This record gives sequence, C-alpha cells and structure tokens, in this order.
Amino acid sequence: MQTRLFIGGEFVDAADGATFETLDPHDGSVLAEVAEAKQEDVDRAVAAAKRAFHHWSRLAAADRGRLLLKLADAIEADAQDLALLETRDTGHPLRDTLGLDVQRTAATFRYFGGMADKFQGTVVPVEQGFLDYVVPEALGVVGQIVPWNFPIMFVSWKLGPALAAGNCVVMKPSEITPLSALRIAELAADVGFPPGVINMVPGYGQTAGQRLVNHPDVAKISFTGSTNVGKQIARGAAETLKQVHLELGGKGANIVFGDANLPAAVGGTAFGIFHNQGQACIAASRLIVHESVKDEFLDRLVALAGTIRVGDPKAPTTEMGPLTSALHRDRVMSYLEVAGDEGGTVLAGGKAPEAAALASGYYIEPTIVETRPEARAAQEEVFGPLMVVHTFKTDEEALEIANGTAYGLGGGLWTTDLSRAHKVARELRAGMVWVNSYKRVNPGSPFGGMGVSGYGREMGFEAMREYTDRKSTRLNSSHANI
Ligand code: NAD
Repeated sequence: MQTRLFIGGEFVDAADGATFETLDPHDGSVLAEVAEAKQEDVDRAVAAAKRAFHHWSRLAAADRGRLLLKLADAIEADAQDLALLETRDTGHPLRDTLGLDVQRTAATFRYFGGMADKFQGTVVPVEQGFLDYVVPEALGVVGQIVPWNFPIMFVSWKLGPALAAGNCVVMKPSEITPLSALRIAELAADVGFPPGVINMVPGYGQTAGQRLVNHPDVAKISFTGSTNVGKQIARGAAETLKQVHLELGGKGANIVFGDANLPAAVGGTAFGIFHNQGQACIAASRLIVHESVKDEFLDRLVALAGTIRVGDPKAPTTEMGPLTSALHRDRVMSYLEVAGDEGGTVLAGGKAPEAAALASGYYIEPTIVETRPEARAAQEEVFGPLMVVHTFKTDEEALEIANGTAYGLGGGLWTTDLSRAHKVARELRAGMVWVNSYKRVNPGSPFGGMGVSGYGREMGFEAMREYTDRKSTRLNSSHANI
C-alpha cells in the first residue's frame, strides 16, 4: 500500500519525495509506504486551508452541516473497509473497529453536522435604541495533531466541530497510524468538501508537528497526545500567541464500593482497562476496591482476564490484539519490571502470550498487579493492558487514593447507594466520571481533563466554543447622538 499527502483537495507527493513505513502490529510486516510531510508540505497545506477559508466560513452553516452529514453516510457505507484498515494499522480488534470505532466516527460527524446551524450567538439586553449582539466566528486555519490509539475516532472528534464552526483544518495524524485519516479525507472530497477545507499531512512530530505549531497563519492548535509533548506544544504556540487545546494523558481511577453490583462492576472494569489493549487516555488503569469485596471481586476479575481472547486482531472473535508499536510494547513491558521491582504482586498476565502464532507481534497478556498507590506503576501513565490494584476502608480513603496522581481525566465508581454516587462523583478530580459504567463516551458530552491531563474540551457545545471566537457588536439603532 502506498499513500500520499492530502493537500488542497488532492493527493500529492511530499516536496522532497520523502516517505516512511508503517508496520502491521500483528507481525511487524510493512503495511504501507506513506509520503512524509515536512515544513514545506505543511506550509503548502496551511496556504491551501487559508485560501479555502473565505468561502468555507461564509457558506450557510446548514450547508457545512449537510456535507458533514454526507460524510457520516459515506463512512458508514465504507465501514467494512475502514474498519479493516484501522485494525491493520493499529492492532485494535476488528470487532471493535467495526462495532464501535467506525460507528462512533460516523455518529460524531453526524452530531456536528446537525450542530452546525444550531450553534448560535446571543443578543445582550441593553438600553432602548441599541442592539448588542454576540456572534461566534470561526478562527481561521486550525492545526490538529493526533495520536495513534483511536486514530479514526479522533479525526471525527477534531474535524467535526472545527469544520461545523467554519474553520479549515490541517491535521497531522500520528506517524504510526496515518491510514484511516487519509481515507476519510478522500471520502470527504468524494462527498463534496471544497479543496483546502481538509488537509492531511502525516509526518513526524519534530518536523511536521513543530511546523504546524510555529506557523504564523495557524490560529489554533488542538492537540491530543502525551503530557510531555503537550507542554512543548504550549511553549511553542506561545511564540505566535496561538490558542491551544490540550487533551493529554490520564491515570483513571475506578472505585468499587462494598455495595456495588459485583458482576456488572467486573465486566465494566475489564472493558475499562483491556479494551484497545489499555491504550486509552481514559483507561481504568487503577482499581480501588473496598476491602470487604476485594477477594471476591479479584477472583472474578482474574478469571475473566484469563478468558479474554488475545490474538490476530483481524479474526472476528479476537477481543484483545497487539499493542500498536514495538516501541510502545517495550515501554509497557518495562513497567511490568518496574512494578515487580517495587514489590507489586502479579495477579494475572505479566508477560507476552506464549502462542507461536503471536511471537512476532507486539502482544502482552491482560495484566493485573497489586501494588502501593505511591508506586511508579500506579502514578505514571502506562497506556497498556496493565491495571494496578489498591484496597480501601473508608470513602475518604478511596477518594484520597483516586485523587492522588497529577492526572485528572476519566474516573469511575460502582455503588448502589445514590447519595454516595453523587458525593463521590463530585469529589473525584476528573473531567469525566462514570457511575456504574466506565469509558462510555458520546458526542454530546464534553470530554477533557484537569491537572496534567490538559485543558479545553472536545465534543458537545463546548467543542464548538473551542473553535470559535465571540464577536460583540453594538449597534445604535435609534440614530440618536451619543
Ligand atoms: P505523543 O505525544 O507522542 O504524540 C501525539 C502526536 O503528537 C503525534 O502525532 C506526534 O507525531 C506528535 N508530536 C510529537 N512530538 C511533537 C512535537 N514536538 N511537536 C508537535 N507534534 C508532536 O503521544 P502518542 O504516543 O501518539 O499517544 C499517546 C498519548 O496520547 C498518551 O499519553 C495518551 O494518554 C494521550 N491521549 C490523550 C487523549 C485525551 O483525549 N486526553 C486521547 C488519546 C490519547
């Protein structure tokens, strides 16, 4: 497979002809040769987006919305191929890419397609003879930089609101998983998006990403990725006073109280950590379980972990595939060593699966380790199928452990006591809280973090606000002298 950059409505080679390879995480074979964007290519893409902005931002909002709705339909019509492409690029099992990711991608485009002509300004009540009104205005060219863990979904999370609001976009997909973003750009062109409104520049962070951050004609950077890179981006964007939206790492706390519905909590916890091999910013990577139910809960959870079907992500029955890159697999493995060195007890997994068929892929078994809340494996984001376990006695202690990291993205709790649910949800330091479920996301609910998990929000009306400025206009409608 070969792919090129998508700039100004067409697929083009990189200016210097550079390419890089992406690998199939199931066996390490070469999957695609991808044109590599560098500074000159990013500059070309920004110029194309700038040219398109005048027309696109002045189009009736309903017309922008209609194109987003058509794109959602095109994604659904192409679901089988898109899901397989995503599975091969990321290692995420086909049953999830087909059953969840592609469907959610279409749903998100559809949500923002519907939103386009409903996101409106306000009229401010003032003295007679004057009209004060506030209009949301598109920012201009927006730079969007995304990671490799849910690449197709992030295309919709970022493009949907930015385009609905009237911006033009230059997106830099991850160098590890650029394929679905390029395919969506192609589908967008097919359904009639004007040239330059969407541009895709796959390349490396230090070159293509940095140029997007530094470019004087880019009004805003919306970044999803690691906390360390997020800090670099905020520093770099300060030079041109760009707006910045940062969706960064997480270390999700998942509290199971003594009165929880245990079978439901076990299923939700397993989904929370092992879905997509734990490569989720909102993964339930820390289980905080009440001592009265700890043994029963862990017995059930460990038994369930043992039944998860790990294997070729293309097989329809596979529940957990490989991690997305060899480098990342090695990083996650190193945390298993760290957890052991820190005195952690491995309750499940802890190594690569033994099956010969998986030997050249980037696989790790679903892993559960009991350790101290201060341990590195319990404080740092691992971003893999590794869940740490802590025990608590009182609600206050549970909250102290849950809020005891620098992150504040997602968190969950399981209880049948309604007042406890509200109280603990309120006290959890997290942008998203799930009660008696985990990691359920929908396009209408704001998504984002606190602390070193970043700032700004995706989804819902909040996302539309992220991609607009508000212009206030005061009109003297009485022609009176003032
Ligand atoms: P990463 O920070 O290494 O890379 C993310 C993107 O930034 C990639 O496209 C990369 O090429 C680019 N990049 C790297 N260095 C750059 C630089 N100096 N300037 C500009 N761009 C640069 O993250 P990753 O390993 O791809 O993804 C995993 C991380 O993403 C985890 O920390 C995870 O928690 C986080 N994440 C957060 C959310 C959220 O919504 N909060 C969602 C998914 C993933």
